Amino acid sequence: MTDLKFVPTTCPYCGTGCSFNLVVKDGKVVGTAPAQRSPVNEGKLCPKGMYSFEFINSPDRLTQPMIRKNGELVPVSWDEATTYIAENLKKYKPSERCALSSARVSNEENYVMMKFARGVLKTNHLDHCARLCHSSTVAGLAGSFGSGAMTNSITDISESKCIFIIGSNTFEQHPLIGRREVMAKQNGAKYIYADPRRTHTCGPADLFLQFHSGTDVSLLNGMMQIIIKNGWEDKEFIEKRTKGYEDLKNIVMKDEYSVENVAKVTGLDPKDIETAADWIANSGATALIYSMGITQHTVGVDNVHACANIQLLTGNLGKRGAGVNPLRGQNNVQGACDMGALPVSFTGYQKVTDPASHKKFEDAWKFPDGIAPAENGYEVTIMMNVLTDNPGELKAMYIMGENPLLSDPDINHVKEAFENLEFVVVQDIFYTETCEYADVILPAVCFAERDGTQTNTERRVQRWHKAADGPGETMEDWKIISMVAAKMGYADQFAWNDISEIFDEVAELTPQYHGMSYERLSHADALHWPCKTPEDPGTPILHKEKFLTPDGLGVFLPADWQPPAEVPDAEYPLQFTTGRCLFHWHTGTMTRRSATLDSEVPTGWIEINAEDAKEIGIRDGEMVRAITRRDSLTVTARVTSTIKKGTTFMPFHFIECPANLLTHNALDPVCKIPEFKACAMKVEKI
Ligand code: SF4
Repeated sequence: MTDLKFVPTTCPYCGTGCSFNLVVKDGKVVGTAPAQRSPVNEGKLCPKGMYSFEFINSPDRLTQPMIRKNGELVPVSWDEATTYIAENLKKYKPSERCALSSARVSNEENYVMMKFARGVLKTNHLDHCARLCHSSTVAGLAGSFGSGAMTNSITDISESKCIFIIGSNTFEQHPLIGRREVMAKQNGAKYIYADPRRTHTCGPADLFLQFHSGTDVSLLNGMMQIIIKNGWEDKEFIEKRTKGYEDLKNIVMKDEYSVENVAKVTGLDPKDIETAADWIANSGATALIYSMGITQHTVGVDNVHACANIQLLTGNLGKRGAGVNPLRGQNNVQGACDMGALPVSFTGYQKVTDPASHKKFEDAWKFPDGIAPAENGYEVTIMMNVLTDNPGELKAMYIMGENPLLSDPDINHVKEAFENLEFVVVQDIFYTETCEYADVILPAVCFAERDGTQTNTERRVQRWHKAADGPGETMEDWKIISMVAAKMGYADQFAWNDISEIFDEVAELTPQYHGMSYERLSHADALHWPCKTPEDPGTPILHKEKFLTPDGLGVFLPADWQPPAEVPDAEYPLQFTTGRCLFHWHTGTMTRRSATLDSEVPTGWIEINAEDAKEIGIRDGEMVRAITRRDSLTVTARVTSTIKKGTTFMPFHFIECPANLLTHNALDPVCKIPEFKACAMKVEKI
């Protein structure tokens, strides 16, 4: 008799966190099936979620630990691999070790990696891919509101009276949140879309602001000047719930931000800027929704502050249908940040430099020789700079579920950095580009083969359930790290019998998760943090009564507009920006091993405006050479009128035309996010 099971889980791709069932036949995952239990997606899925089962049984899965011996990767036992890792890591000083955690594994496994880095490696040089997507959100919103997370819930978006999307291609990157934007529009909301590309998300727009990439602060400051000049600001909200309003006016009321000047900088019609400002201020409840179009700039934190400022100015916070809503990228990037997989904080953003927090974790963990000192570590982008600029300072890196050789800016620079490492461990489900540099490769299970929790973009903590065993000798990430920790002499600190015991430890140490348990999270409508007591129903909307800043006030943090670090010039006349597409995910390790998804979009391309293409003499479908000051590559041209003249775009999923060979690693000075969204390029006919 066929053994058919339906096992509930959440999607391994974007931060929306859609729920569905994995269909398991005779112990093997063979499909997905809808599950209506979660209000996030109400049984619906986008193509990535629907076909997320296809990579699970790929013959490319890593199945055995391997050690590089005389240049060749040789299969070994778990005992030999973990002993080898422990012996090598022990050779280095704490300051020479660093680690990358992962937004694709569970909260519990991020916590275990955080504990391993700080307690075993004794280093704060710990980071993960949030550095590349939303570190400006975490830093920016923490300053403005006291919390660096999405303020409202996904379901709440459909309650909005005005949807203002800036720098987010929601329909392709977070399709089931895009559904909520459409629902709001169907309920009568105004719909404003601001982006250099006319993407699918533009479809329902009442107003399309096709502005130049990298001019967000100018646009938002200009809108705020219009709002103040017309008396549309929410005076009572500003008076009672904010501070720094005079600082804001000192910046945004400058002549530089008159609508005429902003129109010149952004390339927009002044009337459209005025209309957008009117709708944002006067609709009653405006939801500002953004993604990496806002964050991935050298002024990423300023951009985020500008988003917060306009919502503070118009009183669009702490109420239904409003808020500042950053859409996080990876499925568990919110959770990885919450779990302290960052160089500056323990779980719940408790700072490593705060003596009380440091003592709290040192006391709780009971490492006989203490934990990493109370000082900030390096961000992943700074790790790469240190490796190239100061060889020998960092020597060993432990990587769990990250692929910096394809995801990080200026790949040649990343390669140079990795060449300067003496010892590299990679723990993953597939052989990635980064594995080329690994001394040890450890095979992990994938999302379908483990229990655990993840936290989606709206701070909702959700359960994963194990549907099948992983192939070969694969193992859960927390068990692998615990084995290495034991080999390094710290078995007692990693002696959990079950992953739920790790969650209990997280809840004990993390105020936002304090009232949660596996039992409570087993219910369909799982909990939004903060959830501080077992009776607390969770918090779908933040900042209702007061902000999470020390004095409870929202803070206006204005800034002047600054252009991108590299702007087009006579030699490189085009502005290059990068992103993703509907059918693929990040570096393609999973989606490119899904036959259905990969057959829909089998390779990369460069989008170029039809007028620019005509000037260069390029036709649609021709191979062209895309060149920046970093490198060049050959790629198929997609000639279109949907992208703003002067702008080019490439998705970064494809190793055969890797967009990040061309991007540069100029960083935001505060959060160290790279400027993926703007650099100078030229395109040549071949
Ligand atoms: Fe998965 Fe995101 Fe698609 Fe939902 S919207 S199915 S979470 S990729």
